[in-house]
Amino acid sequence: MDMLINGIAATAADKTWIEVTNPATGEYVDRVPRGSEEDVNAAVEAADAAFGVWSEKTTRDRGLVLYRAAELIRRDHKDLAEILTREQGKPIRESTDEVRGCANIFEYYASIAGLPAGETVTLGKAGDCLVTRVPLGVCAAIIPWNMPVLIMGWKAGPALLAGNSLVLKPASTTPLTNLRIAGLLKDAGLPHGVLNVVTGPGETVGAALVKHPRVKKISFTGDCATGHRIREMAQDHLKTLTLELGGSDPMIVMADADIPKAVEGALRGRFYNAGQICTAVKRLYLHEKIAEEFMRLLTAKVEGLSVGNGLSPGTDMGPLNSAEQLGRISSVIHETTEREEGTIRAGGCPLTGSAYEKGFFYTPTLITDVAPDAALLSNEIFGPVLPVVTVPDLGAAIREANHSKYGLGASVWTKDLATVKQVYQEVNAGIIWVNRHLTVPPEVPFGGTKESGMGRENGSKALDSYTQTKTLYLGW
Ligand code: NAD
Repeated sequence: MDMLINGIAATAADKTWIEVTNPATGEYVDRVPRGSEEDVNAAVEAADAAFGVWSEKTTRDRGLVLYRAAELIRRDHKDLAEILTREQGKPIRESTDEVRGCANIFEYYASIAGLPAGETVTLGKAGDCLVTRVPLGVCAAIIPWNMPVLIMGWKAGPALLAGNSLVLKPASTTPLTNLRIAGLLKDAGLPHGVLNVVTGPGETVGAALVKHPRVKKISFTGDCATGHRIREMAQDHLKTLTLELGGSDPMIVMADADIPKAVEGALRGRFYNAGQICTAVKRLYLHEKIAEEFMRLLTAKVEGLSVGNGLSPGTDMGPLNSAEQLGRISSVIHETTEREEGTIRAGGCPLTGSAYEKGFFYTPTLITDVAPDAALLSNEIFGPVLPVVTVPDLGAAIREANHSKYGLGASVWTKDLATVKQVYQEVNAGIIWVNRHLTVPPEVPFGGTKESGMGRENGSKALDSYTQTKTLYLGW
């Protein structure tokens, strides 16, 4: 598949290519150009040239383009979901959810296009001020491979509605669905040059985009270390930044919780997308009174998960996205057992056998008796591995939950309002769920504290991060 620059498929004859392969089978899916700094320059130039036309349209007209794009995504959702499963690995049911999720986001931003933006300030005899919100110009969106379609929606929805033009860089293992959706936005009426997709490595294409002087804002989702590098690179031109980085979400289950419901929550919270989600349940804290029963139920569910090719009906969990991911998870488990930092209760090894030999499959894994200083608890484990810790009371659970460099999400499972109040007030995270985990609807601001990043996506306020105020001061 080709890059899209200026809304036109761009394939220079001298390009080298990045092959996209299916992580379940190793089969070739498609290829995309390995972009270069020149491609980034061309994309930024196209976006800069298109900015005037797009920003002068009414917000309503821009919202209509997003709305039409959502219709096209819904029309093509089966096709898009299949491409996403082939490049990313997740079960087709999850790909369908994600593709529809992107349509939901575009519809949400289209629906708030008519909301008033800006404000008026009256200063008595000194005058009156009209404070408007104006777009920033050319923005950049850098996308990870774990939820590429949803995260494209989170960034493109508000950036485009606010009147910016955009250059988007997909992850190299999952560029195909991003390119298809960019094509649908064009079909929905997005003028040439407003959205440009440049495929290629982060170290070259991503870095060139971050450093480009005409790019005013970087919205990045990915690894913490990359986020720090981007922050350093972006400071030369004082760019606006949204950084959505890692997470190590705690899930706290109290003795009064609805146990079967919480077991389902832990199962979905950790093993959805093979655990490759920033807000997955990454640490499970169980009240000692219910720990045994909980683990009996959860272990049975985890051992019953059907792991396989995401395209096969009935698959509950697909492969990891790459050999690198599989290697990381395997070494985390190896080190945990070597250092005697926990007991494997389920899984704990890559899947073997002819159905799995060409893919990156790992067994859904539960680890109990986890040592308080285990790497499993302090590092982000981006795969299907759940460390479980038993706690004597809520105070201990909250202390453990906060004992992390991350602060993305957290959940508490209880029927007691006082428990909810204490967790909400004392756990340091961007979102606290009660009796659920993972759900992030377009209306709700999303982002973390501490090393989980800066800024928020989703919700009406995300629009503000793609604009700046401009004031007309009327000194009567
Ligand atoms: P990554 O940082 O390796 O890559 C993310 C993107 O950045 C890719 O497109 C990559 O090509 C690009 N990139 C890499 N180096 C770059 C550089 N020097 N300059 C510019 N761009 C560069 O992350 P990943 O492995 O793709 O994603 C997994 C991580 O993302 C996990 O830590 C996960 O928690 C995090 N994540 C966070 C959220 C959130 O909203 N907080 C959502 C999803 C994933």
